[in-house]
Amino acid sequence: MKVAIDGPAGSGKSTIAHELAKRCGLVLLDTGAMYRSVTLACHERKIDVTDDEAVAKVAQEISISFGTADDGTQTVALDGRDVTAEIRTPAIDADVSAVSAVPAVREAMVAQQRELGNAGDVVAEGRDIGTVVFPDAEVKVFLTANPEARAHRRALQRDIVDPKQEEAILADLKRRDKADSTRDVAPLCAAEDAVHIDSSTMTIEEEVAQISALIDEARAAADAPAEDNAPAVATEASGKPKKAAKSEDKPADPNEKFYEGAVREYGLGSRALLAASIGLCGLLSKTLWHWKFENGRTLWDAEGGQMVIMNHVSMIDPVIIVASDWAHGRRMRVLYKSEFDKYKIVNWFFARIGAIPVKRGTADIKAVRRAQRALQRGEDVLVFPEGTRIYSDDQEVEIHGGFALIAQLAKAPVIPVAIVGARDGAPGGNKPLRPGFIWMRAGDPITFDELGVKGRKKQASAMEKVAMERVYALRDALRKEHPGKM
Ligand code: C5P
Repeated sequence: MKVAIDGPAGSGKSTIAHELAKRCGLVLLDTGAMYRSVTLACHERKIDVTDDEAVAKVAQEISISFGTADDGTQTVALDGRDVTAEIRTPAIDADVSAVSAVPAVREAMVAQQRELGNAGDVVAEGRDIGTVVFPDAEVKVFLTANPEARAHRRALQRDIVDPKQEEAILADLKRRDKADSTRDVAPLCAAEDAVHIDSSTMTIEEEVAQISALIDEARAAADAPAEDNAPAVATEASGKPKKAAKSEDKPADPNEKFYEGAVREYGLGSRALLAASIGLCGLLSKTLWHWKFENGRTLWDAEGGQMVIMNHVSMIDPVIIVASDWAHGRRMRVLYKSEFDKYKIVNWFFARIGAIPVKRGTADIKAVRRAQRALQRGEDVLVFPEGTRIYSDDQEVEIHGGFALIAQLAKAPVIPVAIVGARDGAPGGNKPLRPGFIWMRAGDPITFDELGVKGRKKQASAMEKVAMERVYALRDALRKEHPGKM
């Protein structure tokens, strides 16, 4: 895991990176301290910092290392000597930009930074971490703040109360910003895929919380299994238990084995319940609404688990698609909002028919992993990205993009499906069901490769967008063919 935090001087990178290192178990890599150490070594050797060759020689000769002080803060050593305080003075501030602009100095520092970073999980802060040092970092943040806020923070850090001195700091920050942003080699700039955070009016806690959430998300997305709470249930096709449950204070969820296990391996009673309810609901819905699923072969004939996404207009939507998938010998897990679980009977029943609860509005890593494993086992997963039933076209819709992340983790294609007519058949509220017709249509599976973008995050957001656009295009086409049907 690599976390890259870039930004101008005084944007709070050091404080945030230090806090993140502590909370998220990462090694802190303060790259600014390395350029500062080179500058200090130049001063001590009376080297003119505009003499690129001499400065480069110093960078190649010295050794920089990091340690930890008694209070837990990081220390910096130059050739074994603690220089933590010495490198943070106005004299060093004045020359460090010139030193760091020398290509050979950067080459030497970047090589060391990569070596340190590749040794373990790291949070590195600097100017070029996300762009040059670790362009493959899982989390990239570009931290900014207005110059006045940055100068004030720096003054506080250095116990400066004199407004004149703070003004001098402000002038120096502005000068360094300019020098760092306009130099030829590795200028200060945000990586294309960095998350921008303006910390001018945020508290440290807010910033740390926001970046920690990004780290959690990235960790969940990393391929290594992170099933700390998984009980000893058969979760793999091999049927072998994956991991024993950790002894925890919380009682184990009695439904866990349904969420984690393969539907085909549920106990006989649950499988009978599933068959009976799907058979009955499927038959009833077919009689009432004569539903038709066009292009369903895209799904039924597919190899392996498919991520199915669909517009959501009524409670019939999941019934029909799950029943038709089941009738074609497949098994489909529906992701549903965990709010339904407040009804004990619903919670009990949904678990036994293979549905998986999701806490909306949070990064529900457990649900993501369960769905991922279901797809990897060959089960289909159904997600309604609209998150709730859409009763009318005026209703505000917020698309939840989690389906793309799940599909990406499981390396599964996404199949867009649209439904029309179900809103008329089951209008919701206390309105009675009305017989009629329902049409569904599946689009072709969308793979991540065909999206034409590189990078995990970019692919996921492209998938969110493209797949939902296809759902709506299918829906609009169906509405056109069946005028007046919603
Ligand atoms: O972050 P800090 O203010 O300690 O950095 C000091 C200087 O080191 C910056 O102004 C910049 O010139 C240089 N630097 C850099 N690349 C980095 C980190 C710092 O050029 N990755």
